[in-house]
Amino acid sequence: MQEEQIAKGLAKKIEKLAAGREIKIMHVCGTHEYTITKSGIRSLLPKNVKVVMGPGCPVCVTPQAEIDAIVELAEQGKVICTYGDLLRVPGSRTSLYDSVGEIHIVQSISQAVDFAREHPDKEVVFMAVGFETTAPTTAAVMLANPPDNFSILVSHRLVPPAMKWLMQQGEANLSGFLLPGHVCAISGIEEYEQFPVPQVIAGFEPLQVMYGLYKLVRQIVENRAEVENAYMSVVKREGNVKAKHMMAEVFDVCDIMWRGFPVIPDSGLRLKPQFEKYDALKKYGITLKPGMETKGCLCNQLLRGIKEPTDCKLFGRACTPLKPVGACMVSTEGACRIWYTYGRGA
Ligand code: SF4
Repeated sequence: MQEEQIAKGLAKKIEKLAAGREIKIMHVCGTHEYTITKSGIRSLLPKNVKVVMGPGCPVCVTPQAEIDAIVELAEQGKVICTYGDLLRVPGSRTSLYDSVGEIHIVQSISQAVDFAREHPDKEVVFMAVGFETTAPTTAAVMLANPPDNFSILVSHRLVPPAMKWLMQQGEANLSGFLLPGHVCAISGIEEYEQFPVPQVIAGFEPLQVMYGLYKLVRQIVENRAEVENAYMSVVKREGNVKAKHMMAEVFDVCDIMWRGFPVIPDSGLRLKPQFEKYDALKKYGITLKPGMETKGCLCNQLLRGIKEPTDCKLFGRACTPLKPVGACMVSTEGACRIWYTYGRGA
């Protein structure tokens, strides 16, 4: 009850600050979308303050080309280890779920390595998806000398270059960004300071999100463009130095395609030459080919903050979590799945 009163108090302050303006805030985190929708934060905000989701769900931004590649590996007889969220993500032809092949759901890359060790007669491929939050774990496994029958399809992506791309395009007309606390806990704050736009790092509890939004609206109204840290208990200025060192030891930064985006410069990670024997694409001679968009699906525009799930004619009709048409309805961090489950962006 007390929390509800505090949230309402913050909403009133936001309303007062934002009076007479149109403010559009983007968050880049599936967990923020979950908190915002599940706890009804949008319904507390005034109509002139809009919060949209950007490319913050790692499964959703995995392009068709990478799904096609992992399906091809499954069809070649490799054992695929993956997070459950990826199973139904559509590629150009099919998803892993509908493919022929041996697929294992794992909770972590370590489980996939254990499986490879226990089955030396099988070639095991792990689909390494995620942002700065999961890339250090992949790096740690690469540094721990995994078995030769283990390899990874590297699908890691970095958040700041995608934000830069969005700002350069200007199509979403954004006033500021609510930054993901867990990504910033790894990367730190400095990388975000290059952007001349209001930004606030927020935690994931409803009040933490409300407080982050309040600070962000205040910054926008005061015409400041800074990175404010509203999640100081977890995010340090320098980030997680050890995790960043491991990433730098294992990966080089590269250009990479995102679902809904073209190739974004310096937004991906690839294994350094000394770890290439673990690169599944190189090991098995697979080339990524640009995939086909799914007809009628608006995921592309959703991930760029220019459409909402309910703008899609397929939402809740032809596209549901049981029969997903697009990636944003598959993942528990996808905006369509979250809106379908907890209400339409309430
Ligand atoms: Fe794509 Fe389904 Fe979302 Fe429409 S409702 S944008 S088809 S995922």
